[in-house]
Amino acid sequence: MLTCKEIADKIQEDVRNELTKNNYAPTLSFVVVGNDPASKVYVSRKEKVCSAVGIVSQSHNLPETASEEDVIELVRELNEDEGVNGILVQLPLPKQINPNKVSDAISPEKDVDGITPINLGRLVSGNPFLVPCTPMGIMAVFEMNQLPIEGRHAVVIGRSLIVGKPISLLLQNKNATVTMCHSKTADLAAMAAQADILIAAVGKPKFVTADMVKKDAVVIDVGINRVEDKLIGDVDYEVVKDKASFITPVPGGVGLLTVAMLTRNLLTAYKAQKNILL
Ligand code: NAD
Repeated sequence: MLTCKEIADKIQEDVRNELTKNNYAPTLSFVVVGNDPASKVYVSRKEKVCSAVGIVSQSHNLPETASEEDVIELVRELNEDEGVNGILVQLPLPKQINPNKVSDAISPEKDVDGITPINLGRLVSGNPFLVPCTPMGIMAVFEMNQLPIEGRHAVVIGRSLIVGKPISLLLQNKNATVTMCHSKTADLAAMAAQADILIAAVGKPKFVTADMVKKDAVVIDVGINRVEDKLIGDVDYEVVKDKASFITPVPGGVGLLTVAMLTRNLLTAYKAQKNILL
């Protein structure tokens, strides 16, 4: 089985080769609002990978006190800028800003996070264009390790727009039977224990314990929780790893794939903007 690191490296290498071979020079703009330390770390990690792949990136920083209008105005400027091929607004945004209004403002052609209503709608209608990076990364794990999906029961814990909802659609498109669980699900542990494929995107450290996992299940841990300066997943890795047939670790798991898929999404956006066949 390939590890997430190996899969991420392969995706990045493919993107780098395609850029070099064709002399493509895509540019990615990050919009960072406020001083959230985790956001800064994530953006600098993404910038580093972009640069290794041959993508030019630029970070636009707005202060914590920025208004919704300020952010939307910046996004509109980047939409208009022909030198910008992708726009990523780093979440979370300060409380005074409605993230839905901001994502509504991003041009769907530059929406490398796949969060605009048009791109989410295309995913729902079975005609995806730019799909959120984390679920795309998870699908790469299944594809590159040839883990079967069809006919399997997948349980997704968490219903966010960026992870839970799109991964449930992608798994359904590959003929899994999907159960969505969330904070109001009754008897979630029993539900999870029926899963052949268990996706945890909850945001609670070690939420998934061994009793919630069916023997030989495939367990994908999306959670990134900072506990006393350490990164802990949503799955209690040490106790679940012996029960699962495949499990992704934290750190060194899905997070690497998210960043790799960002480079691929930027390439897709660039080619679409240049009318290059996808
Ligand atoms: P979110 O934080 O927006 O929402 C959490 C979801 O979990 C909600 O849908 C909620 O219904 C559900 N939930 C909360 N408490 C629950 C409970 N007690 N029982 C069942 N469900 C419950 O979700 P998100 O943005 O998808 O983030 C989830 C986690 O994934 C976070 O730790 C985040 O940091 C991480 N994340 C990681 C990556 C990555 O690249 N690895 C990308 C995005 C998010």
